[in-house]
Amino acid sequence: MMACLLTFLFIIGACIGSFLGVCVDRLPRGESVIFGPSRCSCGAKIPPHLNIPILAWLLLGGRARCCGAKIPFKFFLLELLGGLLLPLAFLSQKNILQSAVFFSLIACLLVASFIDIDTMELPDTLTVGLAVVGLVISAVFPRIYGTTSASIAVQRSVLGLLCGTGTLFWIGVLGEQIFRREAIGLGDIKLIGAIGAFCGIRGSLWAIFAGTMVGTAAVLPILLKRCLGRGGANISILPFAPFLTLGTILFIFFGKTELFLQMLS
Ligand SMILES: [Zn+2]
Repeated sequence: MMACLLTFLFIIGACIGSFLGVCVDRLPRGESVIFGPSRCSCGAKIPPHLNIPILAWLLLGGRARCCGAKIPFKFFLLELLGGLLLPLAFLSQKNILQSAVFFSLIACLLVASFIDIDTMELPDTLTVGLAVVGLVISAVFPRIYGTTSASIAVQRSVLGLLCGTGTLFWIGVLGEQIFRREAIGLGDIKLIGAIGAFCGIRGSLWAIFAGTMVGTAAVLPILLKRCLGRGGANISILPFAPFLTLGTILFIFFGKTELFLQMLS
């Protein structure tokens, strides 16, 4: 029964991941993410059977059927991440509402990350919009902060926003003094505010420090290289949103356990 449920969540997550790919592709160009059929870069419509998440990319060998153009690896990666992270969110939060809220946060952060990789910019609609949504959600669903009081939850949300924003701002100031150039962009500072609005003070600190440490150490350089499609990516201008996203995912899956225990008691 559990295996069926997890498989179902994997499929739903992969479909959501496929939609996130559409967002990454269209949001920076200001196009609608809901209307308009899927099109290849050559302009040909993509039929539904060649649009199945994960499988289509694998079966086509990462190349479009119509013109042979390379289908970017990021679309496959987003579908796979969606498929893996939805069941994990469900298992780690043990409460449907929390799972839904935090998976939605992760989904938005993934979109922000890949847009940051593509364009080195983060649209305000994503960062500021997400921060506002975080504040509103804390008021409407205080249980995501492990409390039933809306005022306590909003307080934690605001403090998380301020703590994340302030910490990253001062790290940026410090970095600018050391490296003599802009170290952290305004978009990243807005994004950590949004993460803080959802995850509180601890979450925002996890996002900054755990994300940077783990990301630098291992996982991200390899993925980034793949996504950027270059052999030797220029390390000095790495987008920062993927690191914050990784840190937030780590916090949601590992750092919130104390909060979860508080909720049980
Ligand atoms: Zn084509």
